Amino acid sequence: MPLRLEHVTYSYSPGTAYEIKALDDVSLTIDDDSFVGIIGHTGSGKSTLVQHLNGLLRATEGKIYWGDQDIYAPDYQLRKLRLEIGMVFQYPEHQLFETTVFEDICFGPKNQGLSLEDAKKAAEEALELVHFPKRLYENSPFDLSGGQKRRAAIAGVLAMRPRILILDEPTAGLDPRGRDEILDLVRELHEQSKITVILVSHSMEDVANYVDRIIVMDEGRARFDGSPKEVFAHYRELEAMGLAAPQVTYLVHDLAEAGFDLATDATTVEEARAEILKNFAGKDQEASCSDK
Ligand code: ADP
Ligand code: MG
Repeated sequence: MPLRLEHVTYSYSPGTAYEIKALDDVSLTIDDDSFVGIIGHTGSGKSTLVQHLNGLLRATEGKIYWGDQDIYAPDYQLRKLRLEIGMVFQYPEHQLFETTVFEDICFGPKNQGLSLEDAKKAAEEALELVHFPKRLYENSPFDLSGGQKRRAAIAGVLAMRPRILILDEPTAGLDPRGRDEILDLVRELHEQSKITVILVSHSMEDVANYVDRIIVMDEGRARFDGSPKEVFAHYRELEAMGLAAPQVTYLVHDLAEAGFDLATDATTVEEARAEILKNFAGKDQEASCSDK
């Protein structure tokens, strides 16, 4: 079921001296089974945007449709939308509050009206999906490492079996290893559970290797929207927005400018490596021909 935004504009404190237009005429559609990255520098409107996707914030102007339903229709049940579109907030450890991890994960499904037994089953399934170690189920969520807290928070949302999982800067504050683990987990959830994932990040490097589509936010607008290759082709403009493209993008462009014959649309180290090696393979052949 697609989620469609039409000309969504949002202002904080409208009509006051403190009015801030955080979203400015955003139109986009999130399709089933997609893995979308939303990137932009701090203050570009990423968090404001994703809070519209599950109805936490209501657009000042514009419309949002979940399937063919207008979520702002008077009889629409926003509560149901919030269950179907799950959100892991930035620093999700602030969402943990029960005495044990397991209790914490049961809270959502219980609140959803499931029996205790079904809620426990949903919690167990969710904790397994995120590879949360069984021995820590009865621990206090506050005694976990940073990475485990994130896993528990993701499980808490997955336990409600959402159709779309939104993660707002899930790697913020983690070390590089913790970051890679969480991103690998998110990719696995998308691939194995076929859940639509929306990954918010301020780092191109984070999303480039993972997502199928990137939406670049800048001053409340969706400036670019396309595959990583399409978006990184605008690397100079991205730079002007304070967003660096992945380092390999610069590398392949520099090599091309220096006279190497290679495609400049590599977005991962593996792709760049293949392009560069192709160049040398060609040179080797030339060299061996002239040897004869
Ligand atoms: P991002 O997630 O990309 O950092 P945000 O959506 O948080 O961006 O912020 C977009 C703009 O809205 C920024 O100018 C920010 O200062 C402002 N803003 C965010 N939250 C609030 C709020 N609760 N009240 C007032 N202004 C806000
Ligand atoms: Mg944010």
